[in-house]
Amino acid sequence: MENNNHQECIFCKKDDSQVPLVQLSYQKVNYWICPQHIPILIHEPGKLAGMLPDAENLHAG
Ligand SMILES: [Zn+2]
Repeated sequence: MENNNHQECIFCKKDDSQVPLVQLSYQKVNYWICPQHIPILIHEPGKLAGMLPDAENLHAG
């Protein structure tokens, strides 16, 4: 598992020259996500499998 130090949305890979990015911390690693994809993190975190480690274990609701 490699750490993602790039400042780009974990979902759409846009960087902060294209979209505002919100930093989040998960398992002591910092990630970035754009506002457009924050709802996915909240409501459908399983869709982030492969983007965040163990995302398939994040259960919505
Ligand atoms: Zn995004």
